[in-house]
Amino acid sequence: MADDESTARALSGSCLCGRVRLEVRGDLGPADACHCVQCRKQSGHYFASANVPRDALTVTGREHLSWHQSSAAIRRGFCSTCGSFLFWDPPAKDWIAVALGAFDTPTPALSEEVEP
Ligand SMILES: [Zn+2]
Ligand SMILES: [Zn+2]
Repeated sequence: MADDESTARALSGSCLCGRVRLEVRGDLGPADACHCVQCRKQSGHYFASANVPRDALTVTGREHLSWHQSSAAIRRGFCSTCGSFLFWDPPAKDWIAVALGAFDTPTPALSEEVEP
């Protein structure tokens, strides 16, 4: 139990152009790779993400985010400048899915998942 927040694990990331930056404190949830039609069309492939509690996520450059309401309960966030697909957001929930590809370093949750 560290009482100093700076010693807790934090992962940082950004969109391609760097205008939108994000930081997640603590561990990521399990990785998810969604192949649904909407994720395929938006990402061009499939969307790999992890669910993050909202209070563990800090986003800077929010003014550069655009949101596409893809269904009644879901909006998808992307950088208005470079187009990076960053967030799959169910606003009614207390978590948000963050794109694993946005992180600057390999993500621990993914590394653990690929171990046999
Ligand atoms: Zn960008
Ligand atoms: Zn999907």
